[in-house]
Amino acid sequence: MYDPRSMIADDFINHDEIMETLRYASENKGNRALIESIIEKARLRKGLSHRDASVLLECDIPELNEEIFELANEIKQDFYGNRIVMFAPLYLSNYCVNGCVYCPYHSKNKHIPRKKLTQEEIVREVTALQDMGHKRLALETGEDPVNCPIDYVLESIRTIYSIKHKNGAIRRVNVNIAATTVENYRKLKEAGIGTYILFQETYHKESYLRLHPTGPKHDYNYHTEAMDRAMEGGIDDVGCGVLFGLELYRYEFAGLLMHAEHLEAVHGVGPHTISVPRIRRADDIDPSAFDNGIDDDTFAKIVACIRIAVPYTGMIVSTRESKAVRERVLHLGISQISGGSRTSVGGYAEEEEEDSSQFEVSDNRTLDEVVKWLMELGYTPSFCTACYREGRTGDRFMSLCKAGQIQNCCLPNALMTVKEYLIDYASPETKAVGDALIAQEAETIPNEKVRSIVRERLSLIENGERDFRF
Ligand code: SF4
Ligand code: SF4
Repeated sequence: MYDPRSMIADDFINHDEIMETLRYASENKGNRALIESIIEKARLRKGLSHRDASVLLECDIPELNEEIFELANEIKQDFYGNRIVMFAPLYLSNYCVNGCVYCPYHSKNKHIPRKKLTQEEIVREVTALQDMGHKRLALETGEDPVNCPIDYVLESIRTIYSIKHKNGAIRRVNVNIAATTVENYRKLKEAGIGTYILFQETYHKESYLRLHPTGPKHDYNYHTEAMDRAMEGGIDDVGCGVLFGLELYRYEFAGLLMHAEHLEAVHGVGPHTISVPRIRRADDIDPSAFDNGIDDDTFAKIVACIRIAVPYTGMIVSTRESKAVRERVLHLGISQISGGSRTSVGGYAEEEEEDSSQFEVSDNRTLDEVVKWLMELGYTPSFCTACYREGRTGDRFMSLCKAGQIQNCCLPNALMTVKEYLIDYASPETKAVGDALIAQEAETIPNEKVRSIVRERLSLIENGERDFRF
């Protein structure tokens, strides 16, 4: 039976409830009065239930779809302004004991080179990432308790935080590792991770079991209940996501929102972020073998409806998406993007001889190019990591966010961190665009006192000081 407060996956991601939701959404996709009332509810910026949001996703009335896109844009502006937080993935190991049929690291792939970075290699990778200007990483590993145990991940996190090259530093390490125990989540928390990210891949249990035929990941309930264990282990910020293309997107959308509702109901705080990856080509993976692929229009609608349904949850789009697609969805609600990414183990410091990428990157531009592109589009790239370092995580973050207070931190922090980036790493062309942007944006900080502190700190950054934050 559907119960968002239950700790059992089959209850909080209840198949019958999802099927009923899809039926309801389909029956009402042309119900103008209902859709208008849901849009009005969404204007309150308090989010929507999975049922209401599913109706918006299915809505087939063109002018109301326009309203949905406009509202997503407004909510994005209200909560995130023009800022886009930057990060990069760092692949530590591609050893994997699982059999996920959509990923080239599955254990039956015998020809892909397997690799795990040594601590010395991590130093080289992180130095290369620092030299690009990154401050925020997402660690990626396959699941292999022998080749990639938790102690190795913990040691790697310590190594990463310890590297200080020139003015560089990794200030926030998010971690995307397999579902694990409360005890291991506690260890990750103690190691100082930011967000714990785990993609559900698909919420459809039957498909999940088929797509994960072997290995520990086959256990749907253990995987789906992982965020609860992470939170029990003290991790406040968790990041959800599905791999669009594996199952019907409407099903995944409802499941994703039900997962958010469950976390909110049980832990008092929903997911910190939601990622929206689409399946991509890779070594022995052909995305056309999966018949639930979604087109760019549907992708944009999903992003807009997630933005409306969970206004306080950050949304991430990676370099799986092309420049054109990223440009299209940025204003609909994306708050974080990766840039200059390599999706193989050792991909930043080495020229690869053999391709061992987890997926093909669609956006191959350098971080400098991505930063310049964002600024030319009117966005402010941000290398901010302040909340986690100031202890503003979980419900403390959410309550500040809901009170509208987080806005007083984000823009100043974005301007100060992008200033550091421009001085330390940017090309002269990017710096020129950025300096003009900072001058303009700094004047829009509403609070006079904060504005004057930011002006002063920008000068101090010019003079070599670093790492200011609100
Ligand atoms: S998706 Fe993750 S768990 Fe599955 S094969 Fe790839 S690396 Fe392993
Ligand atoms: S101040 Fe907090 S919410 Fe705002 S960009 Fe920085 S880390 Fe994110």
